[in-house]
Amino acid sequence: MLSNSTIKATLNKSNLRVFVSLIILIFLFQFTFNLSKAAVNSQEQVISSNHHLLRPLHKENEVIEVISNETVNVGDTFSVKVKKIENVHGVPKIFFDADKIPVFVLSNNWYRSLIPLSADSKPGKHILEIYYKGHAKKIDLNVMATKYPLQELTLTKEVAALKASRTEKALVAKTLAVLSNTKLWSGKFIFPSTSPQSTTYGVKRRVNGIINPDYFHKGLDFAAPYGSSIKASEDGKVILVGLEPKGFVVNGNCIFLDHGHGVITGYLHLSKVLVKEDEIVKKGQIIGKVGSTGIASGPHLHWGLYVLGKTVDPISWTNMIIE
Ligand SMILES: [Zn+2]
Repeated sequence: MLSNSTIKATLNKSNLRVFVSLIILIFLFQFTFNLSKAAVNSQEQVISSNHHLLRPLHKENEVIEVISNETVNVGDTFSVKVKKIENVHGVPKIFFDADKIPVFVLSNNWYRSLIPLSADSKPGKHILEIYYKGHAKKIDLNVMATKYPLQELTLTKEVAALKASRTEKALVAKTLAVLSNTKLWSGKFIFPSTSPQSTTYGVKRRVNGIINPDYFHKGLDFAAPYGSSIKASEDGKVILVGLEPKGFVVNGNCIFLDHGHGVITGYLHLSKVLVKEDEIVKKGQIIGKVGSTGIASGPHLHWGLYVLGKTVDPISWTNMIIE
């Protein structure tokens, strides 16, 4: 016969067995759950590095809400807005033709990327891909060709032979790579000069009879008289003041303004610079005077607009508000 204490011990033993089995079950469940979670995570990581090789993780593409231009031309800036998915942390990843594009917070509800379609971009089909917390969206984009004119230009041998110094190249490259989270512009950009426009963006040039196939005019020129005023196109921060005596042999005396989100304007060939680096300037503020420093056939203002370090046609930024 079993004594009371033996019964208790047996019961305790069976309780223990049930308890241990439960622990094992919980452990197994957790292990399997974590495994599947890890599988999703690693798939996501693979997607971000080899995104062009894989199909989207989920089919519900409509989860990602995108607003972008309907048509886009070579020379334009292509804007892509992605709506925030509520209760989801993490920023969408945007790729244009397999290149990862920086994404900025535009407002409480929207993320946004700007993609430059420089004069040397290929017309035709381009691919935009958006990955956002396990969701994916692919958009085919048709880029229309833009016809740019050819211009004859005669420069003295000395001017034509000028090449950017190492300092100039390095400082300009560093400046154009700036990506600031704070967006300073709010409206249409204004022309920095009231003088007539001479050479437009994208123009091909025959310099002293020779065409360089890789060359296109990277900004908009104003036939402005020597010493006339140059205005800031929009609110911005002075991120570079280059001076001819300090090695700026191509751009001459120049000013670069950072407007945020990878948008920068440049003002070249100045006779006078009226601002300092790190200074915050207001739209319309006079920042310098027209000159003919650097490679210039005479007094004029060259105005460039850069997006993610590449030039686009600045006129499109004066025609409409790029939010
Ligand atoms: Zn120019």
